[in-house]
Amino acid sequence: MPKPFYKWDENVVLAPCPDCGGATTSFDDKGYSSTRLGTVIINGHHQYAGAGYSRILWQFFRCNVCSRGGVAKIHDNGNSQTAVLESFLPTAIEKAPLPAGLPDDIVKEFREAELDASNGAYRSGSALLRSALEKTLKKNGYDEVEYDDKGVKKKSRSLLHRIDAASDDGVITETRKKRAHENIRVLGNDILHDDWREVSPDEFDAAHKYTQRILEDLYDDRPTVESRLKAKGRLP
Ligand SMILES: [Zn+2]
Repeated sequence: MPKPFYKWDENVVLAPCPDCGGATTSFDDKGYSSTRLGTVIINGHHQYAGAGYSRILWQFFRCNVCSRGGVAKIHDNGNSQTAVLESFLPTAIEKAPLPAGLPDDIVKEFREAELDASNGAYRSGSALLRSALEKTLKKNGYDEVEYDDKGVKKKSRSLLHRIDAASDDGVITETRKKRAHENIRVLGNDILHDDWREVSPDEFDAAHKYTQRILEDLYDDRPTVESRLKAKGRLP
């Protein structure tokens, strides 16, 4: 995930812009008619990340693509050569493209997962991706499914069996099934049912990537998928 970066020689912040789809853009300090945007300066010696600084700057910036405003918290010793960026608002992650026919509630669930991650909330983001996967399977007829328990047919609503059923029907590939289990379901279950642990940005990234792939599998070529789902008795 791209981190905001301050280029002191140009006085710009390179950061992902939420209004530019999460693409990394350059935020500069030029306002209307090239007036400099404002800065709040707090003088005072202090420590930040193991080094001493003489002031804190809250500096206003503007995305040079869409003009959205942003605020940086910067530590320095009176000049920009010594400046270190602590944080930048707004935050964003690159939004994944979603299929056009994807139901609105799934889109919202998926986008909220991205919003969580853009704020560093990788646990809640990953839990919502699991939820998006589960809701998608339900909409596609994988609510209560049959599975084989040592030769005996049993019914199940567990996400495990619902993913397996979609793979058995050929709606998602064997590789995708593996990813759905390892990167989305197991991670989501850990978060919901196990002791607290940190979820890394990489874990979120993998869950984000494979959830998006499964949504594409199911909605990119919807007519073909729907006829398969009907043939398998999943949809009326
Ligand atoms: Zn922008």
